[in-house]
Amino acid sequence: MLAAVCHGARDVRIEPRPDRALAPDEVRVAVAYGGICGSDLHYYHRGAVGDFFVREPLTLGHEVSGVVVESGAAVRGLAPGTKAALDPARPCLTCHYCRAGRANLCTNMLFLGSAGRFPHVQGGFVQHLVLRQDQIVPVPADTDLLRLSVAEPLSVGLHAVNRAGPLLGKRVLVTGSGPIGLLTARAARFAGAAEVVSTDVEDAPLAVAAGRMGATRTINVARDAQALAEYEVDGGYFDVALEVSGAPPALASLFKVIRRGGRIVQVGMLPPGTAPVPVNVLQTREIEFVGAFRANDEFRRAVDLIVAGAIDVAPILSGTFPLADAVAALERAGDRTKVVKLHLAINEDHR
Ligand SMILES: [Zn+2]
Ligand SMILES: [Zn+2]
Repeated sequence: MLAAVCHGARDVRIEPRPDRALAPDEVRVAVAYGGICGSDLHYYHRGAVGDFFVREPLTLGHEVSGVVVESGAAVRGLAPGTKAALDPARPCLTCHYCRAGRANLCTNMLFLGSAGRFPHVQGGFVQHLVLRQDQIVPVPADTDLLRLSVAEPLSVGLHAVNRAGPLLGKRVLVTGSGPIGLLTARAARFAGAAEVVSTDVEDAPLAVAAGRMGATRTINVARDAQALAEYEVDGGYFDVALEVSGAPPALASLFKVIRRGGRIVQVGMLPPGTAPVPVNVLQTREIEFVGAFRANDEFRRAVDLIVAGAIDVAPILSGTFPLADAVAALERAGDRTKVVKLHLAINEDHR
């Protein structure tokens, strides 16, 4: 079986990987589609995400869907041929955080396609993938596996919205309109936000935000740097701001436009040591500043929403490349003027 393997910066190879035996609680799936995420692009361009450097060959990918091929002896109810969403998170299930219902904070997490620990956790851009049974979420046979592979990034948006608290009738700002920003905006509208203002530095993703991803207004902050200033009146306009861009100036801008007592949720990854947080403003305006990292039960919620058609993820789909053309796809995926999210078709016979 073939995999898209990162050996370092600008060195991704399509090469064979051996199948391995299943543990009793494991399932082998044929991966149908894999979405290219920002982290995959960081590994491709820099050989690292933050300070997680590729120190051994790393199969990329964590936004995957597929079809069950084989189940371990203790697995029930996952017959071969079952279509499934694949949760990239394999928490330990026994630590304090797992038992407290916050498995995304697990101290012993195995997350697909990550160099965050050593040996690295190999990823999902591989034809056959072995996962623990609780990572497999079966779906009806008529489910579109391409859309289903968006469950993981949608779960991140849903988790961010959950960290924001109730949004019914609220005014929400989402800074950054990459895939996660768009899905976060959509999740905010789904949660009942009255207004969702989306920002970015490119027009193309903002057109998607305004089109079908829930934004009630969009602002290109590169071209119209003053547009946010109108929200500074009366000590700030927004009840909630979700910072998804990971850009330090975007975070800095939020403290001027958030209402007193409002909440800022950090979703994007800021470069370490760059966070411009005016603590005096945070204190005297009683602003809450919270983090959001990956997702918990929101993964299953995301699967339900996609399967039911309650959230249509199609507007963020920008095209598919065969696994063999993964390098071309990674090159293309970085062009934000043309692409929101690209996918690899990993097993052509499973759709
Ligand atoms: Zn991702
Ligand atoms: Zn744990």
